Amino acid sequence: MKQIAILALAALLMAPAAADTLIHAGRLIDGKSPRALGEHTVRIRDDRIVSVEAGHLEPGQGDSLIDLSDHTVMPGLMDMHVHLTGEYSPSSRLDGLTLDVADVAYRSVNYARATLEAGFTTVRNLGDRDDITISLRKAIDSGVVAGPRIFSAGKTIGTTGGHADPSNGVKQALRGDPGPREGVINGPADAAKAVRQRYKDGADLIKITATGGVLSVARNGQNPQFTDEELEAIVAVAADYGFHVAAHAHGADGMKRAIRAGVRSIEHGTFMDKEAMALMKKNSTYYVPTIMAGKWVAAKAEEENFFPELVRPKAQAVGPQIQSTFAVAYREGVTIAFGTDSGVSPHGQNADEFVYMVEAGMPPMRAIQSATLVAARLLGVEDKLGTLTAGKIADVVAVRGDPLADIAALREMSFVMKEGRIYLSP
Ligand SMILES: [Zn+2]
Repeated sequence: MKQIAILALAALLMAPAAADTLIHAGRLIDGKSPRALGEHTVRIRDDRIVSVEAGHLEPGQGDSLIDLSDHTVMPGLMDMHVHLTGEYSPSSRLDGLTLDVADVAYRSVNYARATLEAGFTTVRNLGDRDDITISLRKAIDSGVVAGPRIFSAGKTIGTTGGHADPSNGVKQALRGDPGPREGVINGPADAAKAVRQRYKDGADLIKITATGGVLSVARNGQNPQFTDEELEAIVAVAADYGFHVAAHAHGADGMKRAIRAGVRSIEHGTFMDKEAMALMKKNSTYYVPTIMAGKWVAAKAEEENFFPELVRPKAQAVGPQIQSTFAVAYREGVTIAFGTDSGVSPHGQNADEFVYMVEAGMPPMRAIQSATLVAARLLGVEDKLGTLTAGKIADVVAVRGDPLADIAALREMSFVMKEGRIYLSP
């Protein structure tokens, strides 16, 4: 074994310098500087960034050049809240009873590609069915299909009748009694089992529904749905496996219980009050707002027969609130990481969230950093991703024009590289 390692090292030392890919950036947003930088050259070798230097350097012999001198070049974008297994429609509930695992899996392949081509090279998948996004992650990592790097929670964990109970709104004969394996827990012992089950299934993190939700067929969209003991058990057992916990929460009471228990992020945070914001700052909890999910459900609630009647009033109450809560949370200094809840709205439109964030008062550079450096910190991968820095993984995207002058430019992605491989070019 040792001998092989020495031979490999010798071969590496004798080999000629590897051919590099050079990107000529007209403008560079590196993810960490407070301002955009001028002309730069990003040098890439295999899947890594070798250097980022001012000016446009000449490619050496064998190097290839990508001319993005009329583009703004940025780190690959990161969406901290997606569901790659679907897109909500009036038939979604029936689909849950009629589609097989493979039916959903084939669809998810297209959703993954749409997400990648929109410039999102990393996503956190917060809840799926049948662990499809865990299999999708494996297929993407091994090059079978194209898609973003996935951090998957597997199946979301909720409580009986809660937002993630898969048997809500189904007739009694079909309801059964889902347990920890299916993501339904009651009590700390169930909580531990559900987390360990996800470890066994190959998840990367844990997602819980700390309060009611909009799209479940249940009356309340805001009530707390876990006890303190259940939350503490989930966070503690998750930590044993190196998992962080993402908590869906609309109402303030359930949200505060989750923050106190030590979850990493609050998703949606619709009725977050000043006390919750202060707690989040104290506990370094991230806020993932998903404004576009709120806008989308509010718009669809106006259509007849789009949502079940139990869902419609919840969509009307929760939908319009998220953007104003986001505005207050930003002013109060809560750490905000980018997330869209895509899969509620169609995949590939993720960049709309930037427009809503800027509309609500966040400067464009901060919005871009929420989807790069801040998101990488949330995931604990800031040593590998989130900025254009020598040594990091070569996830690089570009748009024509200047997103700092017009944030909507991010909707028209024209170049996407993930791990040094090009998936979209102008
Ligand atoms: Zn969601």
